[in-house]
Amino acid sequence: MKVAIVGNGILGLMTARAWLHSKLDAEIVIIGRQHRPGSATRAAAAMLNSFAELEHDSLATPLDRFKFDLSRAATSAWPSVFEEVCPRGSGVTHGFGTFLLNNSATDSLDDDNFNAVRAFAAEYAEPCEDIAPRDIPNYHPDPRYRALRALLLKREGWVNPKQFLDALQARLAGDKRISLVDDHLASFDVVAGRIVGATLEKGGRVGADAFVLANGANLSRLAGELELPMQRVFYGIGMSIEMQSAENVHTHCVRTTNRGLACGVYSVPYGPDRTLIGASNYISPTPCDHAHTGSAYVLLKAAMDQINSKFYRANLVDINVGWRPTTSDTYPLIGKTSLDNLWIIGGTKRDGFHLSPVICGDLVAAMQGREVDPRYSALAPERALIRNLTREEAISKTIRHHVNAAFQHDFAPARNRMLEQMQRDLRAKLEALHDSVGARQWGIPPELVDMYRYKHIPGSL
Ligand SMILES: Cc1cc2nc3c(=O)[nH]c(=O)nc-3n(C[C@H](O)[C@H](O)[C@H](O)COP(=O)(O)OP(=O)(O)OC[C@H]3O[C@@H](n4cnc5c(N)ncnc54)[C@H](O)[C@@H]3O)c2cc1C
Repeated sequence: MKVAIVGNGILGLMTARAWLHSKLDAEIVIIGRQHRPGSATRAAAAMLNSFAELEHDSLATPLDRFKFDLSRAATSAWPSVFEEVCPRGSGVTHGFGTFLLNNSATDSLDDDNFNAVRAFAAEYAEPCEDIAPRDIPNYHPDPRYRALRALLLKREGWVNPKQFLDALQARLAGDKRISLVDDHLASFDVVAGRIVGATLEKGGRVGADAFVLANGANLSRLAGELELPMQRVFYGIGMSIEMQSAENVHTHCVRTTNRGLACGVYSVPYGPDRTLIGASNYISPTPCDHAHTGSAYVLLKAAMDQINSKFYRANLVDINVGWRPTTSDTYPLIGKTSLDNLWIIGGTKRDGFHLSPVICGDLVAAMQGREVDPRYSALAPERALIRNLTREEAISKTIRHHVNAAFQHDFAPARNRMLEQMQRDLRAKLEALHDSVGARQWGIPPELVDMYRYKHIPGSL
């Protein structure tokens, strides 16, 4: 058995690892350029967050509960992954413990989400404790943005993703069943509903019994050429910033709740004297090697205001830009396609690093004919778009997130009806957009409003 994995980000490498862990002996080829252009993984924090990512309406449907089950299983899996890939002394920065802040940098959406995290943690008996914000090591926000409440989620961790990828790849490369191809895949050859080979950009060819497409936000490029009936995957262009300072080293991940269409602001230990702050998100139909200057401004300001005002004297080491693979319905794509020997894993947006031990292991189990949770069928790559927000839920949520984002970015409405007027205008525009794409019984996910507006996602007229 020979398996070709297209893509060398976290999902490609963890899929290869899962094959090595299984009883079936297989030769594995991993295809991807060594410097990993556009890789989301390299730009990630990477936080291993599960409860900290929840919003008040996050677990409203059975599918959301399934995805959360996967996320919780991943939290349990990471300690043994670290033991195997980067045991103590390996030089890979990682750890556990996430401080979740509830501060006054924006509006009450933060309070609702913070309360929800607490309530869900109680529901699932997740180890956590209330903590006085002033007891968080190296937490020195501007006093106007200080948190009045905080929670320590004890099992939620982080890892430097560049160091982890290097360690994992070195481990894989040391196994004689694995070979690495430093190139991009250009196209597949299909005969009678089966992939019989693939051509590399530099002209070489790869043959295999089974193929796994795990090429991140570029997924639609190759899947589109195969004319698979699949939704489009977009580029969630995200920036994180690496800083060096011996005096501001954070011992844990410190973050706000999800807010304003994104994951809030966070800082993560990234090395003995390094801290990573993140992250921005801009959804685009096309790739872009750089992120906006405005995103750097917003990130640095938010981190200095809300986490550590002393960051101003840290050295700015690097700006990472990666493309979060963002599907047209926001849920991941995992499973077999209508081609006999093509499997897909991707579209994991902002928690693919965290989910990887579980979803890659389950994908390999499914490839080998072993039983996996039947709920995975809802995430099949060629599914119809999942539409689980009603029109009213989607419109209200979008308005709430837009207003929350505006306050986060220094919006100061005049002391008159400006805010209500803004909400009314936004509602009218969203109602018109929903009408124009035939969204009467369903709603547009807030982060994809522009993809519908500019017709990158077809409606149902
Ligand atoms: C700024 C930022 C912060 C994030 N923070 C977190 C976090 O804290 N926690 C978390 O869990 N997740 C986080 N994420 C999301 C997470 O990074 C992604 O969900 C995950 O990394 C996706 O992994 P992937 O392997 O699918 O994609 P990628 O990492 O993008 O890997 C895809 C690889 O395929 C290669 N490739 C592309 N085209 C081809 C081709 N034709 N042939 C061969 N190879 C190809 C690319 O070069 C790349 O190396 C973050 C993302 C960003 C951008």
